[in-house]
Amino acid sequence: MSPQNFIQETPRIYKDLPVGLCYLDTDFRFIHINDWLAEINGIPAEEHLGRTIGELIPDVAAGVEPQFRKVIDTGEPIIGGTVEAETSNQPGIKRHFQHSYYPVRSDDGEVIGISCVVEDVTDRNEALAALKQAKDELEQRVRELEQQGVDLVHHKNAKEGAEQASRAKSEFLATMSHEIRTPMNGVLGMLRLLLASDLTGRQWELAQTAQTSAEELLTLLNDILDYSKLEASRIALEYVSFSPNQVLDSAVSLFRTRADTKGLDLSVEPSSELPQWVEGDPTRVRQILYNLIGNAIRFTPKGSVRVTATHRVLEGNDLELYISVSDTGIGIPQEDQTKIFTRFSQADNTTTRKFGGSGLGLAICKQLVELMDGKIGLGSIAGEGSTFWFTIRCTVGAPLQDSQACEVQAVPPARELRILVAEDNPVSSMVVQLFLEQEGHHVDVVENGLEVVQAVKMATYDLVLMDVQMPEMDGPAAARTIRGLEGVISEIPMIALTANAMAGDREEYLTAGMNDYLAKPFDPRQLMAVIARVTEKKTGTAQVAGGVPKRVLTEH
Ligand code: ADP
Repeated sequence: MSPQNFIQETPRIYKDLPVGLCYLDTDFRFIHINDWLAEINGIPAEEHLGRTIGELIPDVAAGVEPQFRKVIDTGEPIIGGTVEAETSNQPGIKRHFQHSYYPVRSDDGEVIGISCVVEDVTDRNEALAALKQAKDELEQRVRELEQQGVDLVHHKNAKEGAEQASRAKSEFLATMSHEIRTPMNGVLGMLRLLLASDLTGRQWELAQTAQTSAEELLTLLNDILDYSKLEASRIALEYVSFSPNQVLDSAVSLFRTRADTKGLDLSVEPSSELPQWVEGDPTRVRQILYNLIGNAIRFTPKGSVRVTATHRVLEGNDLELYISVSDTGIGIPQEDQTKIFTRFSQADNTTTRKFGGSGLGLAICKQLVELMDGKIGLGSIAGEGSTFWFTIRCTVGAPLQDSQACEVQAVPPARELRILVAEDNPVSSMVVQLFLEQEGHHVDVVENGLEVVQAVKMATYDLVLMDVQMPEMDGPAAARTIRGLEGVISEIPMIALTANAMAGDREEYLTAGMNDYLAKPFDPRQLMAVIARVTEKKTGTAQVAGGVPKRVLTEH
C-alpha cells in the first residue's frame, strides 16, 4: 500500500477531531495532516503535503526528527513526550503539546512512515499543577497541626461520631413523637366525648382546660415530629395540582374566629393573576401559612393581619409563588430577626413567658420552604409590625376533577351506617367507636386484619375503618385480600387510619385498595367528612383528608 492510498482511505471524521493527526513518510514529508494540527502550525493543510517538516517548521523539526528516526529504526512507538510551543493563533503564549509517534507498516511489515498524534494538554497540566499545590499545602498544614500535637484521626472520628449521634437523635425524636401521638389520640378523643356528655358547669370547665392543654401538647408534638423528620431527611414532598387561591382562602378562614375574637381585621389579597392551578405540595404550603398567620394573630394585639400572594413566571413551566403575611403587631427588634428562624429561638424571654410557643414553627417553615426550592424572610419594625414572606417554586398544574383540594367539611352521612372498625389499640378503638355511636352509627370492632376479612364475609358493612399497623395481618394486606374477594364484598369502602402521616405512606394505602386515609390523631370533623365522602361515592377517586393541621386544633 502506498502512503497516498493509505491517506485516501483515512476516514474524514479525523478531519475535525480536536487533536492533531499527521502522517509522514520515511523522509519526514507530510502525506496527510488534519486541520487542527495544520492550524497549530499556522500553515494551511494542503501546503504541508509533499514537503518535509524541516522545510516547513524547522524549530520543531530539530526536536522531533531524531525521535522520528528512532521510530523508523526500531519500529517501536514513542508515546507521550511533551513539547512546549507557541501556536500561530496565540503568539507569545506557550502551550504544552503531548506528542506520540507510531510506526506505520506495509502489508509485509516494513516501516513505511510515521503517524503522529498531538494533544494540547496545557489545561490538564495546569489543573494537575493546581491539584499538586493544594495537596502540598494540605500536607504542610497537617504537618503543622501534628507538630502542635493535634490528633487529626481523633478529630475526624469525633466529627463523624457527632454527625451520627445527631442523626440518631433526630430518628429517636421522630419515632418518639410519632408513638406519643397514639395515646394522645386517646386523650383527646375521650376529652371530646366527655365534653359532649352531661357535665356540671365546673366539670365542663375542667374538661375544657384539659382539652386545651392536650391540644397544645399535640401541637408541640407535631412540631417536634415535623422538625425531627426534617432533620432526619424523612419528609418527602407531594406533587399534586392545587389552587393557590383556595389554599390561601382556606388557611385564612381557619383563623377567622380567632381574629374576630381579638378584634383583628384578617384579610387575604391574592393577585388576580395568580395561576388557577399549580403543581406542588399544598399540605406543606398550608402548614407554612398556618404558622405565619397563627404567629401574626398571636403577636398582634390590635390592627390587622393581611395575606397577599403574587407569582413570577420562570423558565419552561416553572413558576415562583410569593406569599406574604403582614401584621400591625409588636414587631421584632432588628437584632432578633435572624435568630428566630433557628430552632427553639424566640425573640426574647419576655415573649416566651407572655406568648408561649416552642420556637420551632419558623425553623420548620424555613426547612419546608427550602425543600420547595424557596426562601423565607421578614421585614419588621419593633412596635409597628412585621411582614413575613416566603417563596416556593412550583410548576403550572392541571385542574382537578371534583374538588379534590377541598377543605375538611363536616358533612354527616345521610343515613345510619354499619361500620367495621379494625384497631388493635383498645383506647383508640373505643374513641372511634364511642364517637361513631354518638353520631348514630352501628359499630363492630375487630383487632386485626384476619378478623376484618372474616367479619366482612359474615355480615354486610357499609364501611371499614382500618388501622394500618395491626398484628397477624396489617391493614394494607387486609385491604388487598378484601379487594381480591368475589362479589360485592370486594367493593366495600375502606379508610386507612394511621399514625404514619408521612408522604409516600398514602400511596401505599391507596395502592393496597383503600379508598382514603386519615392520619391519627384526627379531629371528629375530619372523620365525618371522610366517611361522608367515601360512602357517598362508594368508588371513585381517592381523596386524602391528611393529618391534623398544626395549630388548627386550638381553633375548634
Ligand atoms: P413559636 O412557637 O415560639 O411562636 P416560631 O418559630 O413560630 O415559634 O416563632 C419564633 C419567635 O419569633 C416567636 O416566639 C416570636 O418571638 C417571633 N415572632 C414570630 N412571628 C412573629 C410576629 N408576627 N410578630 C412578632 N414576633 C414574631
